[in-house]
Amino acid sequence: MSSAGDEGWNDRALAHLWYACAQMKDYQTFPPMHVASASGSHIVLADGRRLIDGISSWWCRSLGHAHPSLAAALRDQASRVEHVMLAHMATDATVELSERLARIFPGLGKVFFGGDGSTAVEIAVKMSYEAQRLSGHAARTKVLSLENGYHGETQLCAALSDVGDYRRGILPALDPGAFPKLRGLPYVGSRHEPEWEDCSAAWPALLRQLEEAGPSLCAVILEPVLQGASGMRVYAADLLRRLRGWTREQGVHLVADEIMTGFGRTGRLMACEHAGIVPDLVCLSKGLTGGTLPMSAVVTGEQIYATFYGAFEEDRAFNHSNTFAGNPLGAAVAVAALRAYQEPSFLTRVAELAGELRAGLEEVSRATGALGPVRGIGAVVAADLRAPSGKATTGRLGFRVYQEAARRGALVRPIGDALYWLPPLNADEGVVEELTRVTIDAIRAAVG
Ligand code: PMP
Repeated sequence: MSSAGDEGWNDRALAHLWYACAQMKDYQTFPPMHVASASGSHIVLADGRRLIDGISSWWCRSLGHAHPSLAAALRDQASRVEHVMLAHMATDATVELSERLARIFPGLGKVFFGGDGSTAVEIAVKMSYEAQRLSGHAARTKVLSLENGYHGETQLCAALSDVGDYRRGILPALDPGAFPKLRGLPYVGSRHEPEWEDCSAAWPALLRQLEEAGPSLCAVILEPVLQGASGMRVYAADLLRRLRGWTREQGVHLVADEIMTGFGRTGRLMACEHAGIVPDLVCLSKGLTGGTLPMSAVVTGEQIYATFYGAFEEDRAFNHSNTFAGNPLGAAVAVAALRAYQEPSFLTRVAELAGELRAGLEEVSRATGALGPVRGIGAVVAADLRAPSGKATTGRLGFRVYQEAARRGALVRPIGDALYWLPPLNADEGVVEELTRVTIDAIRAAVG
């Protein structure tokens, strides 16, 4: 991808830097791309070529790159105070952000800040377990999550996840028995399928698993309606509704990991709104700062908060302190991002984009014959790559499509062979048209 004149840069970019989520040997034949700048839906390379950011840089740049009001908020905050600890002191930015986040979910008015998405999941699970213990339910020691779920990169997050690649490296001490998985989910291709609103056929088998685990559970954690890292799978909103009902009856906390789904991605401000439910704990990150700075938050209600509230001698405080919790730079940018997400026209544009994305990927499917059924919700659309009839393709088709798309001007990075588009939510129509054209050409080149 880099040009001949960039050879010196390639050497430097590979000498010491160990890239995320990569087989480094691949870089010998496909060197890192030299990014010079980025704006709107495009990343600009040092040799002047422009790439559409078709996956919003790991799903976080929901308002695109170099958004003027986010950049202004960052500059303004940096000119006053960049960072102070969040104990016995706070900046206006962090307080205002807590006020805004406290208004999103009815009844969830307490906001605890963390550093990144994985940390938010750790905080939510710690908070749940500790709240159960302080309430006299110390035997509730397990956390149930969903098949094909993904919750981040730390040891606990990997144990909660059910995506093979991310589970390697989990210490044996994190006994899989402590992290049961709910299997047999009612997956749908879109929210227009009947099962989206009624998953009663799948429910009895799910309920049996829940009842078996029930008394030992402190929490159920899930990505609401859209599971990202396992390949953009959509499941019935009715399942979310039923799980909310069941967890409430059983005294089990429901943790919604909205790290990827939050802030408009699924067509609602929060994905939980599709089921009309309010969880006990919500994890937020990625789009929280429009993907500008690492920051996360766990939002919960009075009930859990009150469990930790008491005289110092009672020893009930929630003792968790990430150095950069509530960092003012991130908070100032997040306030600006929330203003943009809450503009009346914002979700209207997401709905239009959703239609354009689906139509675009259907066109790719027709033009190449190399995709399975298209699935998606809101501004996320996906389909599994497969060899077109009459062609035999072998090995890493998704990776080849990624390389060919990058050469042609789009960052499209399939998860295995699950091809998906997840561009900035304010991408204009021209972006989807270009994405469609590049993806068609990339697939044709990759299948040969
Ligand atoms: N949960 C979900 C649903 C995610 O998609 C991610 C990130 N892809 C995380 C947690 C982890 O966030 P981070 O990478 O910021 O630790």
